[in-house]
Amino acid sequence: MSAQHDPNCIFCKIVAGQIPSRKVYEDEDLFAFHDIHPWAPVHFLMVPKVHIPSMAQVGPEHERLMGRLLTLAPKLAMEQGCNPYPEGGFRIVCNTGQEGGQEVHHLHIHVIGGPRPWAKG
Ligand code: C5P
Repeated sequence: MSAQHDPNCIFCKIVAGQIPSRKVYEDEDLFAFHDIHPWAPVHFLMVPKVHIPSMAQVGPEHERLMGRLLTLAPKLAMEQGCNPYPEGGFRIVCNTGQEGGQEVHHLHIHVIGGPRPWAKG
């Protein structure tokens, strides 16, 4: 079980409006905002509002939340300027743990797209 809000977590502070962000989307469960260091023309992050440290802590109680997160991603990607599949598209990245390259330990997916080349990949 995760704490609802971790006062030391930077993404919890963004969700709470304690740290400014460029918001893409918000509902009662999810929050999305532009990455401050974009790799590509479109690069935003989607997070659950509840503090879940990473994908490694996701359990059956999160199935609906994770389903909503993933089904919303393509809609937001198009709204933010990704081009339609198949010529366009987008990449979803979910770094998990130190060996997975995770820097911020609040579960998030990167949604990345737009015309290439991109800074990474
Ligand atoms: O997946 P990972 O944890 O490595 O990435 C965290 C991401 O959060 C980075 O791409 C970083 O630029 C972004 N970030 C942000 N706003 C902050 C702090 C980090 O967009 N205030």
